[in-house]
Amino acid sequence: MTQAAARHSLRDEVAALLATVGAAPDGPSGGGRAVHSPLTGEIIAEIRDVSASEASDAIGRAHEAFLSWRRVPAPRRGEFVRLLGEALRANKDALGRLVTIEVGKIVSEGLGEVQEMIDICDFAVGLSRQLHGLTMGSERPDHRLMEQWHPAGVVGVVSAFNFPVAVWCWNAALAFVCGDAVVWKPSEKTPLTALAVQSLVERVAARFPEAPAGLSTLLVGGREVGEVLVGDARVPVVSATGSTAMGRVVGQRVAGRFGRAILELGGNNASIVCPSADLDLALRAIAFGAMGTAGQRCTTLRRLFVHEAVYDALVPRLTALYASVPVGDPLTSDSLVGPLIDEAAFAAMQAALEEARAAGGRVHGGERQVEGVPAGGFYVRPALVEMPGQTGPVRHETFAPILYVMKVRTLDEAIGLQNDVPQGLSSSIFSTDMRDTERFLSATGSDCGIANVNMGSSGAEIGGAFGGEKETGGGRESGSDAWKAYMRRMTSAINYGDAMPLAQGVTFDVAGTGPVAS
Ligand code: NAD
Repeated sequence: MTQAAARHSLRDEVAALLATVGAAPDGPSGGGRAVHSPLTGEIIAEIRDVSASEASDAIGRAHEAFLSWRRVPAPRRGEFVRLLGEALRANKDALGRLVTIEVGKIVSEGLGEVQEMIDICDFAVGLSRQLHGLTMGSERPDHRLMEQWHPAGVVGVVSAFNFPVAVWCWNAALAFVCGDAVVWKPSEKTPLTALAVQSLVERVAARFPEAPAGLSTLLVGGREVGEVLVGDARVPVVSATGSTAMGRVVGQRVAGRFGRAILELGGNNASIVCPSADLDLALRAIAFGAMGTAGQRCTTLRRLFVHEAVYDALVPRLTALYASVPVGDPLTSDSLVGPLIDEAAFAAMQAALEEARAAGGRVHGGERQVEGVPAGGFYVRPALVEMPGQTGPVRHETFAPILYVMKVRTLDEAIGLQNDVPQGLSSSIFSTDMRDTERFLSATGSDCGIANVNMGSSGAEIGGAFGGEKETGGGRESGSDAWKAYMRRMTSAINYGDAMPLAQGVTFDVAGTGPVAS
């Protein structure tokens, strides 16, 4: 197929996929922000950014929506999310394909991203009947002490390009059942999948009598639009996913107005391979963790610490896998590694590899692939770099498929190196010795928000709380009790007696009013 024919068909396919879910970019053809597909670099749509005043008005409408939505019983709010999950199920194929075209994930991962949305909807439906508080024993007679959780308000969601829709759903499904309205600023690189999801939510809302206008709002635009959302005091909770550089700014901005920020930022994830590891299993896990999604997951495996006893048994096999992994058009079934998102990502990868070479690294792969891939996309062979130490680029997140491999002599050394970076998202250990694995999971082990055993660092399930420490931002989303971040906590003491005892034995006997303590 000629490049011109390919250009024509991708753009047409995107329009058809958007039409399937009832969405259409509102930018006139030839106007607005150009959206490129990383598959070929071609423009697949134009879309208009919202202005600052449109964004502000939309936030106002979301606040109004919140005022009525918070009064809808939580299980009913759960029913809304159940219907959203059904709509996602019905449109999984179309949405998954759109993810592939807009982000470059292979088909199975595009579908997996939509499945993740469905899963969190299911989770949130159950949660809608379990938004529980606590009752504590009061120190005062005839008193009850309790806490309950109330809706927080408008939740602002700022999302990154690499999970263009799942991250919204992690936040939104919980926020909706918690009684909040949601305003979403997706990545400027991936507005089309956002548009498709917004269309599905609006369809569900249209046939849900209690859903107010403005319950779910999409603000298409770049950083400037995100800044409006992040700076607005009518948005008490901001969940921001993206680079550490973004989180540093957003976190301070939200803190400056005493809002709550849920920060999900960059990772620099590691795995440790111990002498007792099942190497066949480790190989498979490492391959997916480091090369899957073309290295563009926050949880992508970026550092591998291999015990010297198994280094020679593992690393040559891994290098061979790197040389043979099929790189190519993610829409075809035999590709396992699609393109990088854009040229800037490619340039950042090449710069990191140069830096690694200068620091003594031995680089395998990493070059641009032009044979057998669509023209115009930035396809690369994943790079495996044997490093003499954890220096230079190893300490940073380069959002590309680069795996730095280092030899270690002890588990202590490996854990020390793993933790000695600014990021703290995900980690894993490969060992069949429970002393190793328990040490790794203990208070003196991994310092990350995620620590897996005999698995890779990526591919988290939605049932657990997701997030990381240090420069990864400290936020938690998705499962477990992450829902609490989308609500406000109210503590209440209730006196059902006829005396007025004060806590901590304090007395305050104002003349003529009688004793305060019985
Ligand atoms: P990015 O930081 O460039 O952009 C993320 C989002 O932030 C975009 O929507 C962008 O418009 C917005 N933004 C940027 N500056 C802003 C500001 N000052 N105010 C408001 N909004 C602003 O990130 P990216 O390149 O899209 O995504 C890749 C990064 O995201 C990687 O670092 C990756 O590790 C991280 N990520 C983290 C997680 C996680 O859960 N920890 C998940 C996915 C991606």
